Amino acid sequence: MQYQETGGTSPVVQPRCPAPTVDVDRSDPHYRAWLKEAVRKVQADANRSADTHLLRFPLPESWGIDLYLKDESTHPTGSLKHRLARSLFLYGLCNGWVRPDKPVIEASSGSTAVSEAYFAKLIGVPFIAVMPRTTSREKTRLIEFHGGQCHLVDDPRTVYEVSARLAVETGGHYMDQFTYAERATDWRGNNNIAESVFEQLRLERYPEPAWIVATAGTGGTSATIARYIHYGQYDTRVCVADPENSCFFDGWVENSAEVSCDSASRIEGIGRPRMEPSFVPLAIDRMMKVPDAASIAAVRALEQAIGRKAGGSTGTGLWSALKIVAEMVERGEHGSVVTLICDPGDRYLDKYYSDAWLAEQGLDIGPYSAALDGFLGTGRWPRH
Ligand SMILES: *Cc1c(COP(=O)(O)O)cnc(C)c1O
Repeated sequence: MQYQETGGTSPVVQPRCPAPTVDVDRSDPHYRAWLKEAVRKVQADANRSADTHLLRFPLPESWGIDLYLKDESTHPTGSLKHRLARSLFLYGLCNGWVRPDKPVIEASSGSTAVSEAYFAKLIGVPFIAVMPRTTSREKTRLIEFHGGQCHLVDDPRTVYEVSARLAVETGGHYMDQFTYAERATDWRGNNNIAESVFEQLRLERYPEPAWIVATAGTGGTSATIARYIHYGQYDTRVCVADPENSCFFDGWVENSAEVSCDSASRIEGIGRPRMEPSFVPLAIDRMMKVPDAASIAAVRALEQAIGRKAGGSTGTGLWSALKIVAEMVERGEHGSVVTLICDPGDRYLDKYYSDAWLAEQGLDIGPYSAALDGFLGTGRWPRH
């Protein structure tokens, strides 16, 4: 007791001696030196990196519409998750969550884990990826290549709790991309994906796109793009394309966070069983539910159009972007539309580029490929 209270009706506080300052100093010069060095290494990696290209998808000149692809497959770890992993590591480091020698753990369908394994190695901490067993073999190989460890689970819905448990057991940090993606990313600028796209469109004939089409895994990319557009007072609209096995579309339509989906998405990187905290539905203008066979038909059409293979999610976005282009053609509107190449196709040769896999999955891309061919030839989107 530092103060003594006298009895009676009017208590008088009488300091007997000055109250000592309570002071707990946990600052550790070794940790702070490590932190400084870790942040420098992550920033230096960004400083050495070039921006990603904004490619053009060829459309007939007479349409007066330009379709662009932001090629996120050329990051050092091959996907748009390179941006996210960098942001999450900086956020975790600056928050004091990522500590020397303590593992970083992540629940991932693969791409984030590949990029995080790279950054974990860069700053010298162990990395464990908790992933569905169905994740492509090439991704587990890449995680291991970057020095990460793969912890495979049978039920994709358990990745969150397994990650949290591993973090407790190891004293490590569960990065939790599905919660933190939207807030770890600088949405106002700092060369985020949206700022980069708008900067690269500056000298185009339609520099302010009518639409940007994204897909959603964490939801972070679509949140960043939408917020940036609103903040910059642009008229651009944001469409999110959702694959078959995902609850985002229903959750957005019903404006409910309670929806769920029981089957795992076949389109790696996108489509989730629950409404992820990083998905910001009210910032999104429009959503489309895209059949998986359409996504795969579109990503194969991409190769015919620009000579590049990409992952399934690129096809999901491209299918929606082409549908929007078709609507613009029908209305006689001119302008530009942007979508993303999310990751490269060489990770999926035995999946989206394998006819045996398609047959095994019962996917018939024939009608969708014919629809795309017809559209690109005539400008008319087939009616069903
Ligand atoms: C994560 C991911 C997406 C979606 O990005 P989010 O920002 O997480 O919504 C799309 N495609 C691929 C291949 C991905 O890995």
